[in-house]
Amino acid sequence: MQSIFKLPSDDMPPNEREGASGGATVTDRMERWLESGEGFPWNEKEILRYLGYRGQEIPVNVEELICECCRKLEQAAAPKAVWREYPLTVREHVLDMVCLQTRSRNLERNLKDCGQIVVFGATLGSGVDILLHRYGHLQMSKAVILQAASAAMLETYCDWKNEKLRQEYQKKGWYMRPRFSPGYGDFPLECQRGIAAALELNKRIGVTLTDSLLMAPSKSVTAVMGLSRKSRICSIQGCEACDKMDCSYRR
Ligand code: SF4
Repeated sequence: MQSIFKLPSDDMPPNEREGASGGATVTDRMERWLESGEGFPWNEKEILRYLGYRGQEIPVNVEELICECCRKLEQAAAPKAVWREYPLTVREHVLDMVCLQTRSRNLERNLKDCGQIVVFGATLGSGVDILLHRYGHLQMSKAVILQAASAAMLETYCDWKNEKLRQEYQKKGWYMRPRFSPGYGDFPLECQRGIAAALELNKRIGVTLTDSLLMAPSKSVTAVMGLSRKSRICSIQGCEACDKMDCSYRR
């Protein structure tokens, strides 16, 4: 079994990282995984961060468990993503995105100079929840690692999808801001309802929202990305990972 810890690529942006095998980029590896179900471009650092490791040495047995869990997730996940574009108007701090209206200082700042938005939804599918549920009963150590690795997997999948969108929009002269999810900062979690309805999440990718705004399958995400005519190349991993500390759009 190839250890994900052999991959040398996790400090670099997803579109530039190179994999262990043949210098393949994350994009190449993602496309291969989507076709064959093997060799997902894991972000080891992200998995370890979710597991609470902060630079400590990883015990060999934990490393082996992580690898095993990653292989299981590669087989169980069936990711899908959908998106739609809407005009954006801002009046007296009310952000009107047609499919939802809200007030959020953080989002307003991030969407400054944007004339449109893309609402985005993605999921790893119900197979991952079945796996999480099974190991929640069978072996808690694996269930914890599966939670961490599936969260990292969803992030990497969304980064890859968003990077593709960013490149497409840039060809049309639009600069895409990083994704911003309801529940982040002061962007109300309730806005997930408007996004879910606008994207027809249930019908198109099988994602439902509970009354308490939890998503099922659990490894799903909704977000808004601004589109601006003003040139700014954002880090697809978001403002937290971006080194432009003086950026006036920073959330
Ligand atoms: S801080 Fe970076 S990622 Fe965030 S809005 Fe500015 S350029 Fe984009």
